Amino acid sequence: MLTSRTPIVAGNWKMHLAWREAIDLVRAMRGPLNQCKKVEVILIPPFPALVTVAELVQPTAIRIGAQNCHWESKGAFTGEVSPSMLVGTCRYVLVGHSERRSLFGESDEVVRKKLAAILQHGLVPLLCVGENLAQREEGRTSEVVATQVAVALDGLSLSPERLVIAYEPVWAIGTGRACAPAAANSVCGLVIRGVLAELFGEQTAAAVRILYGGSVTAANARSYFEQADIDGALVGGASLQADSFIAITRAAQAVAG
Ligand code: PEP
Repeated sequence: MLTSRTPIVAGNWKMHLAWREAIDLVRAMRGPLNQCKKVEVILIPPFPALVTVAELVQPTAIRIGAQNCHWESKGAFTGEVSPSMLVGTCRYVLVGHSERRSLFGESDEVVRKKLAAILQHGLVPLLCVGENLAQREEGRTSEVVATQVAVALDGLSLSPERLVIAYEPVWAIGTGRACAPAAANSVCGLVIRGVLAELFGEQTAAAVRILYGGSVTAANARSYFEQADIDGALVGGASLQADSFIAITRAAQAVAG
């Protein structure tokens, strides 16, 4: 049985950092991050800095992700980037981030098409799911998250190392209001692994890495890494400062033993 769930700490820089700023940040943190050998570190820069950041981490174990992609391989889609264009630079691609869903109208169906395209090109989707505040207050968290996972993965066959899921309650992203670790753990374990077990069987469900995201900081990161069903963190704001991102990664390293 596959039991290896190497923790992941992923930094989503969103639409922050100009090219020169991205270079400075990578130079400041790549050494200490690379010392955390028990953690898979992923940097997810904006597109203009993607290749440069990838080159700067080339001698390290740090991996690169893209923030978005289209589902087609090429064509008349001005402003879009296809998965095939990311091959060779990235291993991971974010898909279904709540900002893409809420600000750019990406439906579960669009997420499903993108995810399938990412897999088809040999890249690894980092699928984001999570309920908004109204859905949480209506007691619909499990239903919303289960549906997002099930629709995104509909019709796919996959091995666990080809997928990472991030549970990111929308109300916790960028708000400083993080989800209680035990509550996040139960969504990751009971809901997300539950759906994965129904779709792909228990063994795959147990082996897929599931991250928590939403106001993770150097101060609270460890409490998530200590949860049985949480395999790391997707970090936004705190990934923009070398000190905090290094501290979060070291917390993951410490828990990994
Ligand atoms: C995110 O961008 O996915 C995120 C979780 O942001 P933050 O850590 O700032 O809440």
